[in-house]
Amino acid sequence: MTTISKNDQLFERAQKTTPGGVNSPVRAFRSVGGTPRFITRAEGPYFWDADGKRYIDYIGSWGPAIVGHAHPEVVKAVQEAATRGLSFGAPTEGEIEMAEEIVRLVPSLEQVRLVSSGTEATMSALRLARGATGRDKIVKFEGCYHGHADSLLVKAGSGLLTFGNPTSAGVPEDFVKHTLVLDYNNVQQIEEAFANFGDEIACVIVEPVAGNMNLIKASVPFLQALRELCTKHGALLIFDEVMCGFRVALGGAQELYGIKPDLTALGKVIGGGLPVAAFGGSTALMSKMSPVGAVYQAGTLSGNPVAVAAGMTTLKLIQQPGFYDQLSASAARLAAGLTAAAKEAHVAFCADSVGGMFGLYFSVTPPNNYAEMMAGDRERFNKFFHAMLDEGVYFAPAAFEAGFVSIQHSDEVIDETIAAARRVFAKL
Ligand code: PLP
Repeated sequence: MTTISKNDQLFERAQKTTPGGVNSPVRAFRSVGGTPRFITRAEGPYFWDADGKRYIDYIGSWGPAIVGHAHPEVVKAVQEAATRGLSFGAPTEGEIEMAEEIVRLVPSLEQVRLVSSGTEATMSALRLARGATGRDKIVKFEGCYHGHADSLLVKAGSGLLTFGNPTSAGVPEDFVKHTLVLDYNNVQQIEEAFANFGDEIACVIVEPVAGNMNLIKASVPFLQALRELCTKHGALLIFDEVMCGFRVALGGAQELYGIKPDLTALGKVIGGGLPVAAFGGSTALMSKMSPVGAVYQAGTLSGNPVAVAAGMTTLKLIQQPGFYDQLSASAARLAAGLTAAAKEAHVAFCADSVGGMFGLYFSVTPPNNYAEMMAGDRERFNKFFHAMLDEGVYFAPAAFEAGFVSIQHSDEVIDETIAAARRVFAKL
């Protein structure tokens, strides 16, 4: 008699009342096939599914779990905050502390507004950019994901200066006709875009380390060109650091590259696993936000005290001496170990990392843009993914995603992963 796994049972049940059985699409395993794992608990670098199987977790809640799951200090802060009340709809001192801390750590920020998701942060930064410049057009890059606001949900146009089509049904053409989609890391295209539309472009929004088309590093000349062209043409440069902020370095990608954006969107790590995100910039720009200025934005749960407690504790933990050295070394150890294991098995594969983020590529060299990323061997990735899952290693269930280590991913945990990969590559 075959027994149906608890994960299968839950997935079947979930699909009856939730579209696709999940509350965020990539959790559904659509890209890799099979049954999503329903998680019951997590601790440090591990989580356990409904069948009691333990996994080394390399998604870390898609970025937030940088100090490891259920860190005792974060849990304690959340418990204490909860006993004082869950939400007030009136300001708290904790929100001031959090804003002060973020502004102190991120080089370009003088003021921030706290929100509850990365989508809200980028959407509001975009509105501010349009409000501040009085212009409508925006530039984004193929393969960069900035949340699911209408103007940003635009897939790649076919090449230079192609105004995008909606990626999602339900996004009117009228909303996205102002969104210009260009190739990541292509300096010539951005120069041409500004030459043609320079006085109409409100802003350029970019993931300065892209993590939504696998991991792709921006080239320094590319980011420098964005900075120079925005300044020259009076457009605002928005760094979407929802994923790479506090992940690639304490001060984010802007610290790593030494380039100051006009506006920054943050999320993930700053909530430590609870819903906190933020956007910010100079005081002059942020003064255009309501209630001081005319650009409207609000949120019932913005700056929620329990979420802020989790976020503040996480921000304290990541400032411990050597934190980013250790985090980066772990991700680099994983990338190097996996690359070597694949080489031994003659599998065309490489891996790369920036800070605590990494990319796995079934190609000979890391991609530089969306098209190169799409050219990787996705079928092989899917086989690799499932074989690693059987081994108790949970990588992102899609070849298009970056991976994440936490500070709890010790050398032993990384080496256990590499040993599993060696077995898997041998069979691929
Ligand atoms: N921006 C980037 C770079 C992201 O990676 C994400 C989410 O993965 C978002 C924005 C949207 O954030 P959220 O899912 O919290 O709305």
